[in-house]
Amino acid sequence: MKIESILKQAESGDGISREEALTLLKEIKPKSKEMYLLMHTADHLSRRQFNNKGEIHAQIGLNWAPCSKSCEFCVFAEKHGIASKTIELTEDEVVRRAKNFENAGANAIFLMTTADYEFSRFLEIGKSVRKAINPNMPLVANIGDFGPGEAHELVEAGFTAVYHVLRLGEGVNTRIDPSMRIRTIKSAKDAGLDLSFCVEPIGPEHSIEEIVDRIFLGKDLEPTVMATMRRITIPGTPISAHGQISEIELAKIEAVTRLVMGKNIMAMGVHEPNMPSLLAGCNQIYAETGPNPRDTEEETSKGRGRSVEECKQMLWEVGYETFVGPAKSLQGPLRNRTR
Ligand code: SF4
Repeated sequence: MKIESILKQAESGDGISREEALTLLKEIKPKSKEMYLLMHTADHLSRRQFNNKGEIHAQIGLNWAPCSKSCEFCVFAEKHGIASKTIELTEDEVVRRAKNFENAGANAIFLMTTADYEFSRFLEIGKSVRKAINPNMPLVANIGDFGPGEAHELVEAGFTAVYHVLRLGEGVNTRIDPSMRIRTIKSAKDAGLDLSFCVEPIGPEHSIEEIVDRIFLGKDLEPTVMATMRRITIPGTPISAHGQISEIELAKIEAVTRLVMGKNIMAMGVHEPNMPSLLAGCNQIYAETGPNPRDTEEETSKGRGRSVEECKQMLWEVGYETFVGPAKSLQGPLRNRTR
């Protein structure tokens, strides 16, 4: 009865408390009637709030290289020795792929690099992409940590948002001080960039309390896009001993995260795209090209990465229409200019 009453009040979109989120995650078991009630509540909230429209955010990985931050869960971690050589997409190639994504119907373009990638080069490529795509298209930086000065340079180059996260196990499974991650997010937001935040990378070893802490940290940081992501096992790495959570377990976390965020977001994502989460409050998924931290394939479109067309098909399969044109969810400075 307690679960049903939490779900009933969550229908308003006013959010649920930390205690309520803990109760849902602890007491609801996949395959139970309550699980489907939870998924339905989150699904209904998203379809109503987002007008039954789904978004496709398209990410281009700019480089394949060993990264000094050595995050346990990442293909690029120098300690794993998987990415032992360096490959970088040329500026022309990045622009070409961004245009291809736009022409295929992507609603936002993300540019991603390893943490050691040269910032000035990233800015130059970003400017060229900005010139080539719809001026209202969200352009999102998914890069290493930076401060207030770099945040303003990103805005001047035409970026509208960042994807940045305090990952689960940050500072333990990564060589990055957690305070740096928060500083970067605050610098980006102070400069007017929107935030795409994610509870990630979730593995079986993470406690419900840790996951709920990250959900509420995300809420406090006021992202316009919230998401969840499970860790993908990279074979042969020490952390792979923990294994992976299933898509249905991820869908449970997705649904609870959706209920926590309520009306305070403009899209609810999941990574990687999966059907259970698309029936549990998710309305935003990713297409990917280039190198990808979850893929041992150097060109992820030949591996784990999905195309825009495949993402459209997934949205269609669950009854979402694909939003047409630039997403409103990551417009940052553009949104402020048009107000
Ligand atoms: S997740 Fe990012 S910071 Fe960590 S090793 Fe991979 S590229 Fe580097």
